[in-house]
Amino acid sequence: MGWSPSILFRPHSGILVVLGTSALGGAALRYGTSSEDPEASSLNPHTFTPFTLVSKQPVSSTSTIFTLRSREGSSDPQLLKDVWKRSVWSVQVKQPQLQIARAYTPLPPPAGSSDAEHEKAQELRLLIRKEEGGEVSTYVHTLPEQSTVELRGPNVECELPHDVKEVLFLAGGTGIAPAMQVAHALNSKPGARMHILWANRKREECVGGQSDALQAPPPGRLSGWRSIFGQGEPTLMQESSTPLGYQGVIVKELEAWKQHSKPHTEGLSVEYFVDEEKRFIQPANVARHLKLSAQKDDAALKGSRVILVSGPDGFIEHWAGRKIWVAGREVQGPLGGVLSQMDLKGWQVYKL
Ligand SMILES: Cc1cc2nc3c(=O)[nH]c(=O)nc-3n(C[C@H](O)[C@H](O)[C@H](O)COP(=O)(O)OP(=O)(O)OC[C@H]3O[C@@H](n4cnc5c(N)ncnc54)[C@H](O)[C@@H]3O)c2cc1C
Repeated sequence: MGWSPSILFRPHSGILVVLGTSALGGAALRYGTSSEDPEASSLNPHTFTPFTLVSKQPVSSTSTIFTLRSREGSSDPQLLKDVWKRSVWSVQVKQPQLQIARAYTPLPPPAGSSDAEHEKAQELRLLIRKEEGGEVSTYVHTLPEQSTVELRGPNVECELPHDVKEVLFLAGGTGIAPAMQVAHALNSKPGARMHILWANRKREECVGGQSDALQAPPPGRLSGWRSIFGQGEPTLMQESSTPLGYQGVIVKELEAWKQHSKPHTEGLSVEYFVDEEKRFIQPANVARHLKLSAQKDDAALKGSRVILVSGPDGFIEHWAGRKIWVAGREVQGPLGGVLSQMDLKGWQVYKL
């Protein structure tokens, strides 16, 4: 999605990238172009709907999870169910004084809470990083609990292919939010697996996050590989001011998703990279994952394998090249950056 500013009240500023043909893609387009029910009082892509800011949960000195509850009763349950199922989607938050809006990516419900509970509560959680001098992100951070926040959406940013089997997700900063949406969507796909490479500038964003070590299949048995959950890398440092074993909010949620996904899928694994610790995602991290994946037997390889790249514009550009604007719409553009110089072994790349 390229964390670049979105434009003032575009009728439908979400970028629709359909990775596979599907009914949902069509549905999303319909929702985006219809003018029916402009006065709708529940979350909809055409008009802004008031939500109540029920809680603010600090993640770090610059990021917060905002929990927003629909004030007007039910959103269209089928609409949200569809977008949660297999897409990356966003909502727009309005800054009323300036009359501008920005896109944010709702976090999935915490692992273990039922979707029904989540729907019933009519809550959306947004992980928002306060940009220095940023109009909307700063505004939202100043709001006290019980304030009104107006939202519009959902806007489908991309859909996972129906037959997706494996996702490698390169996330920069709050680009972890779409990664968590994908982890949530894959959870209902038996046999699917996902590996996240998550880069942050500072450790405070991912305190206690310990990378899973990927393991090659044992010799003589090429089918299947696994990540060893919970085994930390010796190079990872625990912040000295942080109690041993303490995990930041997002790390805790990722750990919960890992545990939750194990019985249903081949699992989720995460590697953490922190600029201030001089640990950056390297092409070798990507290459190693592709190599291990290729060592699986043919039967297990059936289905699409997708690399998703999400985060600030510079992050996306570095890994996959710029997205481009064509006829007023932002589209993928050619594959560039580091990934364009690698042997991707048939993996498809999508820039979010
Ligand atoms: C689909 C999508 C999903 C997103 N999801 C999330 C998410 O889940 N979480 C999240 O935190 N973000 C997300 N973003 C990014 C978000 O939409 C905003 O772009 C971000 O919060 C910054 O908006 P802002 O209004 O606070 O900053 P802006 O006012 O747009 O400013 C952005 C930056 O540019 C600088 N700037 C502004 N004007 C100028 C100028 N004239 N000259 C020089 N510098 C300038 C500001 O200082 C600031 O650093 C998403 C973006 C997209 C497109």
